[in-house]
Amino acid sequence: MEKIKMTTPLVEMDGDEMTRILWKMIKDNLLEPYIDLKTEYYDLGLQHRNETNDQVTIDSANATKKYKVAVKCATITPNAARMDEYDLKEMWKSPNGTIRAILDGTVFRAPIVVKGIEPCVKNWKKPITIARHAYGDVYKGTEMKIPGAGKAELVYTAEDGTQQKELIHEFDGPGIIQGMHNISKSIASFARSCFNYALDTKQDLWFATKDTISKKYDHTFKDIFQEIYDAEYDEKFKKAGIVYFYTLIDDAVARVMKSEGGYIWACKNYDGDVMSDMVSSAFGSLAMMTSVLVSPEGYYEYEAAHGTVQRHYYKHLKGEETSTNSVATIFAWSGALRKRGELDGNKELMEFADRLEKATIDTIESGSMTKDLALITTIENPNVLNSEEFIKAIAERL
Ligand code: NAP
Ligand code: MG
Repeated sequence: MEKIKMTTPLVEMDGDEMTRILWKMIKDNLLEPYIDLKTEYYDLGLQHRNETNDQVTIDSANATKKYKVAVKCATITPNAARMDEYDLKEMWKSPNGTIRAILDGTVFRAPIVVKGIEPCVKNWKKPITIARHAYGDVYKGTEMKIPGAGKAELVYTAEDGTQQKELIHEFDGPGIIQGMHNISKSIASFARSCFNYALDTKQDLWFATKDTISKKYDHTFKDIFQEIYDAEYDEKFKKAGIVYFYTLIDDAVARVMKSEGGYIWACKNYDGDVMSDMVSSAFGSLAMMTSVLVSPEGYYEYEAAHGTVQRHYYKHLKGEETSTNSVATIFAWSGALRKRGELDGNKELMEFADRLEKATIDTIESGSMTKDLALITTIENPNVLNSEEFIKAIAERL
């Protein structure tokens, strides 16, 4: 069989621990036999990040701006224990944070739906994609404990020295206050990423805040989304047959629970943090969750939603058998290859991505799966495979 050709490379960001092992198995068994794989390779494994003073992470993000599509393996975010384990020069920042800051993107997370792994919410038939605004609000908040009676105010001092003040509260005893902010430019980027992704995936877009209570803060989110929608996206949405729908956050939650799924739910930072855990656990597992960072300029970085599966890696190092689920990492590759194909007009590559996903889903639906899924499946007597056997079973079907 002749291999599928690629015209433009995609950016390959290798990673750490068990997912690094899966990464190689996926390339060897599922990609390279079929595709003349063209990638620009960046090793984001912690050892190499340390050797390059984390320059490799920055280089990989800049390469993503050049080639527009990247696929990333899970990586270690160092903590004190990793400082010793890898003898690090510095506690390097989270690569995902660094990449997100350079690409100014929004992360979209969607469950991979298969028969036999049923969502807890029985009317959810299609995936619900969560888009979380990843800047500001309570995550960049400033807080103060108020020891006793006194006046708390919000003060803004302009560059020319003029001031604007709002009373927060006249305290007559101890209490607490919190100040938080967001930036119009970041909200606008978030909005454009969401509108672009909705068009890309032909799904309705829902957005919700608490604008009835927060008449300036949350209302500004609502207004920026609406202004950008009216000016740039209304026609495109109508042409694509999709809808932009704004409602209050509590109304959105009620509607989500009763819906069939099949839309994108854009959330402010805190709502997205909370709701993405609710949606992912209700759909099954983090190992069945895709994640893509979309920049407002249209750069895409695909990855798995889970981490490096450290506990399995230590078993692997001891020579013990592992049964680690590679589905999310496989879908990171298929997502990136499909996007590469779309941008290059490479139909064969897009069709390959579809086939790879179908082979993966069919393997599970036929009863062959890793241990994490075997524990929650409704399929009777599942065939539990180890990490490598599962990938080989997919290869056979492919
Ligand atoms: P994790 O790697 O997601 O794993 C947590 C647990 O979830 C695992 O021990 C395993 O449970 C289960 N699990 C996760 N993915 C699985 C898979 N594909 N197949 C089967 N089981 C899976 O989270 P962590 O242990 O908290 O973090 C490990 C490292 O990953 C950390 O250094 C962290 O910094 C990094 N991390 C990276 C990213 C990223 O790059 N995007 C995201 C999160 C965390 P059992 O052990 O019970 O089988
Ligand atoms: Mg969270």
